[in-house]
Amino acid sequence: MILALTFILSGFVKAVDPLGTQYKIHDYLAVWGLASYVPDLLTLAGAVLLAAMEFILGICLLFAIRRRLVSKVVLVVMLIMTPLTLWLAITDPISDCGCFGDALVLTNWQTLWKNVVLLCAAIVVWKWPTLQPRLISESNQWIVVNYSTVFILFVIAGRSLYTLPQFDFRPYHVGADLRAGWQRMMEGEESPYSEFFIERADDGEDITEAVLNDSGYTFLLVAPHLEQADDSQLDELNSVYEYSLDYGYPFYCLTASTGAVISRWCDMTGAEYPFCNTDDITLKTVIRSNPGLLLLHDGVVIRKWSHNALPSEKALTKRLEDSPLGKQLTDSTTSKILWILTWFVLPLVILTLADRLWAWTRWVRSSKRRKKANSDQQTDNNNPINKKVSNMRKKIVAGNWKMNMNLQDGIALAKELNETLKADKPNCGVVICTPFIHLASIAQFLDQDIIGLGAENCADKEKGAFTGEVSAEMVKSTGAQYVILGHSERREYYKETPEILKEKVLLAQKNDLKVIFCIGESLEEREAGKQNEVVKAELEGSVFNLSEEDFRKIVIAYEPIWAIGTGKTATAEQAEEIHAYIRSIIAEKYGEAVADDTTILYGGSCKASNAPELFAKPDIDGGLIGGASLKAADFKGIIDAWKK
Ligand code: PEP
Repeated sequence: MILALTFILSGFVKAVDPLGTQYKIHDYLAVWGLASYVPDLLTLAGAVLLAAMEFILGICLLFAIRRRLVSKVVLVVMLIMTPLTLWLAITDPISDCGCFGDALVLTNWQTLWKNVVLLCAAIVVWKWPTLQPRLISESNQWIVVNYSTVFILFVIAGRSLYTLPQFDFRPYHVGADLRAGWQRMMEGEESPYSEFFIERADDGEDITEAVLNDSGYTFLLVAPHLEQADDSQLDELNSVYEYSLDYGYPFYCLTASTGAVISRWCDMTGAEYPFCNTDDITLKTVIRSNPGLLLLHDGVVIRKWSHNALPSEKALTKRLEDSPLGKQLTDSTTSKILWILTWFVLPLVILTLADRLWAWTRWVRSSKRRKKANSDQQTDNNNPINKKVSNMRKKIVAGNWKMNMNLQDGIALAKELNETLKADKPNCGVVICTPFIHLASIAQFLDQDIIGLGAENCADKEKGAFTGEVSAEMVKSTGAQYVILGHSERREYYKETPEILKEKVLLAQKNDLKVIFCIGESLEEREAGKQNEVVKAELEGSVFNLSEEDFRKIVIAYEPIWAIGTGKTATAEQAEEIHAYIRSIIAEKYGEAVADDTTILYGGSCKASNAPELFAKPDIDGGLIGGASLKAADFKGIIDAWKK
C-alpha cells in the first residue's frame, strides 16, 4: 500500500505538470552536461512517460496486477532511484529532486530516506509478490490498466499540456497575492518571489513595484523564450492587446529573450506591446505555457490562460470591472477532485465490486458442485466409479512409455495388454503413448475400442526440412489417435516454450489427434506456493487460445514435476486441491459446463497402491502413468482402480 500510493501520487503530480517534470529532467541533464544533446521534445516525452509509468505501476501494485512482473520492475526502479538520491543528497547539485513535482517539495536527504523506506517495501513485495491480495480477477485486469493509462496520459497529462496544469502548486497560482509576497521579500523575509522582477527591455528600469502596486487590472503576457514561443494563436493574442489598449489596462510581455529576438518576434507577429525582462526560470514557474497570459488585479493573480485557451473575442467586449473575466476565478480544486473521483475512482470501485461479486458467486457455484460430488461419493462410498459416472467426463488411464523398450519388447507389451484388457474389460478409457517407432506396428493389432494409441510428442511444424522431426500428420497416419504435449521433460530438456506448444496443439488438432496436455510445477515453485500461478500460466500460454469446441477435445494431465519418476506422490488432498483449481480456471475461461466435462488426469509416481485413493477424488479423472505403465500387470493394477 505504501509503495502503491506513493507511486500513484508521484506519477499523478508529475502528469499534472508535464512541463515542470520536463524542466526537472532538463536540470538533471544539465548537471551531467547532457542538456544540449537532448531535444526538448524527447525530454517532454520522457516526462509524460515517466509520470505514466509511475502511475500505472502504482495502480498495478494497488490492484495486485501482474504481481511478479510488477514487483520486479518496481524493485529495479527503486534500485536505480535510491543510489541516485544518495548521490543527490551528498553532492546537492539540485536543491529539490522533484519526485512529487511542486506538490510536495522534499529536501534531498528527506527524499533519500523516503526512498530507503520504499526500497525496503519493494524488496518485501519482490520477495513475496503473491501475498499481495488481488482486488480484481485476472480476466478483468486489462480494464483497470487500460482505463488508468488513458486517464493518466490523455485526461491528465494531455489536458494539462494543452491548457494549463489542472492543479497549480506553484507560488503564482490563481489567488496568489504577488504584491504581498514581494513586499515580504523586500522586507527581508523568506519568500518564493525572490527571483521575481520586471525590468523594461529597452532601458533596463525595474518596474516590478509599479506593476504590482497597480490597483487596477494588468495583463502579463509570459514567454520565457520568444524564439520557442508558439505563434499559432497570434490573432487571439493581438485581440487581447487591443482590448487592453481600448480600456486602458497595462499590458506587458515578460520574457528572458532580449534585443534581436524581441525584434524578430515583433516583425513576425506585429506585436506592439512593451517588452520587459524577467528571469527565465521564474517565467517558466509563473505559467506552464509559452506564451501564456496572466491577469493581475490589485497585485493578485486572478486568471491564467494557456495560448491554446485565450479569452475569446466575445468575452472581450466589456470592461473587466463589469465582466465575469475581471472576477477572480474561484478555487475549483474541490470540483476538480470531485471530477476525478467521479470519473476515475468511482468507475474503478464499481468495477472492483462487480468483479468481487462475480468471483464470489463463482466460488459459491464451484463449492456447491464440489459438495454435490462429495455427497454423490458418499452415496456409494465403496464404488468411486459411480461418482464419476454421475458426470459426463471421460475417465482415462494413459501410459507414457517415454524412451523405453525396443520395437520387439514394445510390441510384446502392447500385445499382452491388449489380450489382458480384452479378457477383463476396463471401466475407463485406456491409452498407451509409445515412441514413434512403435506406433505403426502396434496400431496393426491393437483393439483401439479398448486401448487408444498415442505418440509422446509431435513437431511444431507442418512438414519440410526439419531433420529428425515427426509431424502430427505422420503420427495420425500410423493409426494413432492421441499425442502427449507439454510433458515437463520436453519443456525442460528440449526447451519447449508455451509458444512452441501452442503450435503443436494447433497442428495436432488440425490432424484430428486428441491432445493430452501436461502441466505442473517444479519443487521450488511448489515450495514458494506458486503452483496455481504456474499451471494457470501454462494453460494460458498454450491452450486457452482455443475455441470452446477445440478446448473440449483436450485432456489435461496435471503432473507435479517433483513427483515424476521420483517415487514421491502428491497426496490425494494436494492433488485434488489443484485439480479443483484447474477446473475452476477452466470454468472462468470457458464456463462451468466445459469445466465439468474436461478430463483432468493426475501424473507422478502413480501406482496400483495409490491410484484408488487418488481416483476417488471428485476432480481427478484418472492418471498419466510413466514407470508403472511399462509392465502389463502394474498398468492393469492402476486401470483396475476404477473397479474398486
Ligand atoms: C510421467 O512422466 O508422465 C509420469 C507420470 O511418470 P511416473 O509415473 O514415472 O512418475
